[in-house]
Amino acid sequence: MRSIMRRIQRLQTVIPPVPPPKPQTEEDRKFSETLANLLVRMDPAHARLVIDDLKTVDHDSNKRYSRLTVAAFERVMNHLKKNQPLELPAKVAALEMINEGWTTYNCEDCGYDLPSNWPTLNSEWTTPSQISYEPCPLCGGKVGWHAFYTKHKCYREQVPLLAEPALPDVRKGQ
Ligand SMILES: [Zn+2]
Repeated sequence: MRSIMRRIQRLQTVIPPVPPPKPQTEEDRKFSETLANLLVRMDPAHARLVIDDLKTVDHDSNKRYSRLTVAAFERVMNHLKKNQPLELPAKVAALEMINEGWTTYNCEDCGYDLPSNWPTLNSEWTTPSQISYEPCPLCGGKVGWHAFYTKHKCYREQVPLLAEPALPDVRKGQ
């Protein structure tokens, strides 16, 4: 009996009780860290939905991420790759949950992408062909089709992350 116990003990030292975690790349680490930063900046109710969804999919690989979780992933990627603000305000999150696909509408000042169903303000329509969108929820900048590119003649990703200009007074000229 004692020899069997000894043998088991010896086996336990050779066979790790749990498989070692798969190595995380630097990119994975950066992504997780940035996602965690985004979650603390989100509306707590929305952040809770994402955390619960992450746990659910983690335990059941047949499950798919919710639209809100995918939207949070997209915001992380937009921040890391395109220097967009790391934010998912409640109003944007609510629209992301009922929307599909991606958008070409963004803020001309901070470059933040907004859902294609971002609200329109009927009162600001100048001509029937021109749609005016509610201002950016982050900086109050004007929102439009490829608005950042139209104003700056460059893509947001070309603006270095550490050399961000101070937000201009977006209300001037209105
Ligand atoms: Zn903005």
